[in-house]
Parts: sequence; C-alpha cells; structure tokens
Amino acid sequence: MELLKGAETAKALTKRARETAQSLPRAPKLVIIRFGEDESDISYETGAKKRMAKCAVDCTSLVYPSDTDPEAFFAEFRKLNGDDSVDGILVLQPLPKTISTERLFSMLDPEKDMDCCTPKNRLRLFEGRKTVYPCTPEAVIRMIEQAGIDLQGKRAAVIGRSMVVGKPLAMMLLEKNATVTVCHSRTKDLPAVCREADILVTAIGRAEMIDGSYVKPGAAVFDVGINMNASGALVGDCRQADMSAASLLTPVPGGVGSVTTSVLALHVAEAAAKKFL
Ligand code: NDP
Repeated sequence: MELLKGAETAKALTKRARETAQSLPRAPKLVIIRFGEDESDISYETGAKKRMAKCAVDCTSLVYPSDTDPEAFFAEFRKLNGDDSVDGILVLQPLPKTISTERLFSMLDPEKDMDCCTPKNRLRLFEGRKTVYPCTPEAVIRMIEQAGIDLQGKRAAVIGRSMVVGKPLAMMLLEKNATVTVCHSRTKDLPAVCREADILVTAIGRAEMIDGSYVKPGAAVFDVGINMNASGALVGDCRQADMSAASLLTPVPGGVGSVTTSVLALHVAEAAAKKFL
C-alpha cells in the first residue's frame, strides 16, 4: 500500500497560483473572516496565511468576537464585499448562531466566493457547470489526478454528506463519470457498501473508524477526516495500520488537508486574474 502524501500536489498548485499572481498588475488579495478564537480556525488561518505568502497573494484577516452585533457586522461586510481591491473572501465556519449563514452567503459576491458557498455557485456545481469548487473536495480531486486514477466508469463511495465535503465531492466525482454512492450514519451494512468501491473517500469525523473490512482489495482510499484519538494524536477516519488491502491511502496529517490552502491560493489568484482579462 502506497502512502500518497499531499506535498507534490500542493507544490504544483502553489507554483501555478504564484505564476498566475505574479503575472498580474497587482497582487491578488484574500480576506479571511473569523469569529471567535477557536483553535482549529486559528490554526487553519495561520496555515492559509503562510501559503498565500508563498503564492504572492496578499492576505489579511478580520476577527470578530463570537457575540458580535449582527447588524454592525453585516454593514462592514457589505463594504468589504463591494471593495474592488478584494478578490476573495473566505468565511471560517461554523458561524456564531446570531449570524445567519443564509444571509451572509446570499450577500457574498459569487466572484469573491473562494469555497463555493454562495447559492449561485452551489447551483452551478450541482448542475455540473463551471464554477469555483469547495477547497477540500477539490483537494481530493487533485490528489486523485496526481495518483493518475481515471474515474470514468469506476465505483466511488463517499462516506459523509455534508455541504462542506461529502455532497459537493459526490457531484464532482459524478462529473468525472464515476458511479457514486453517498454513505452516512444511517447506511445499512456500511463495510459491504464500501467494499464495492474502487475509490473510497472518508469524510466522517470519527477517529480511525474505518478498518480493512471497508476496503476492496486494490481500492484507493482518500481520508479527509481530521480527528484527535484517545491519546490526543491527530488521526484520520482510517486506521492506517489496517489498510494493507488498499492500493493507496492519503495519510493524516500530511494528506488531503495539506492541499486545501494551495487550492484556496489558486482560487484567489484566478479570481484576480479574471479582472485583468
Ligand atoms: P460533518 O459532521 O458535517 O459530517 C460528517 C458526516 O459523516 C455526516 O454526513 C454523517 O452522517 C457521517 N457520519 C458520522 N458518523 C458516521 C458513521 N458512524 N457511519 C457513517 N457515516 C457517519 O463533518 P464534515 O463533512 O464537515 O467533516 C468531515 C471530516 O472531515 C471531519 O473530520 C473534519 O474535521 C474533516 N474536514 C477536513 C478538511 C480538510 O481540509 N482535510 C476540511 C473540512 C473537514 P449523517 O449525515 O447521517 O449525520
């Protein structure tokens, strides 16, 4: 079984993003919006800023307290959304309860939407039309391409049906002519369903739940999960030591998660480039 790390894909995407950014009359600009001081949000933001610097993309973050006044926030957001010098806006989720996700993403300019959150871009994705893809599902697709896997006619199973990973990824796999099964917590005999799959994607959020009984011999396994195990170590949804039947597995950490900020950088660079066409 090969461990397919994300470094090579991330490097290639970073190069493309930097070359695009440097070909423009000004640096592309990303604004990250964060509410509160959640550790995983801060860690993602720090990683994203480092990646943007490597890609010659300007990046600033706006941090609001979790109990921020919604009307004051939306007034500021409206200005940011209309600011021509801003090419991309990424809002870290989940939002505080007082900030309506629907209102925010209905307001967000689809051209500045870097993670396929606006109704317009989501509709385009589900219709199979060209749009900005959500960063994590796109990272999976890029790694599948890096592995040289042709999805046409293959059986794919995705465990997880969130709008962040599972559902959009299922649509993207379908677009590439895979035959896709979407699994979730109510799926009956999940191991048997997964054993049908040539490509298995786990986006569950359950530390090391997936063992060899879920894997068809020779299947490629893409582990999106980011979890803490009982001893406090960062692990995926898959039990790496029990994946010998797979042809490849993306590790956690260092797999899919390490590709997402490079995808984000490319989205910002491409959004800026559109303005100078
Ligand atoms: P959600 O909690 O929104 O969704 C989890 C999905 O897994 C649900 O559809 C749920 O089913 C399903 N599920 C939960 N338990 C089981 C089970 N026992 N058997 C089968 N299915 C189950 O999580 P996200 O989609 O936001 O994230 C999934 C994982 O990916 C998390 O670990 C998260 O940290 C990670 N992640 C990683 C990113 C990266 O960059 N690598 C980015 C985003 C997320 P149901 O719908 O029935 O409840």
